[in-house]
Amino acid sequence: MAGGRGRGGAAAGRGMGGPPAKCVCPQCGYEAAKKRGLPCRRMKCPKCGTPLVGE
Ligand SMILES: [Zn+2]
Repeated sequence: MAGGRGRGGAAAGRGMGGPPAKCVCPQCGYEAAKKRGLPCRRMKCPKCGTPLVGE
């Protein structure tokens, strides 16, 4: 059963293309604009001090 096709199309999945532009506190929901070159987890929530998450 040789298909003959190269690769199918499992790539385009998500709706919008692009990385998240903000970091979110998993604890209280605080959102902060993501800084370029600075991982979200390097930033802390000003409210509860929890490291933010981005993706
Ligand atoms: Zn927080």
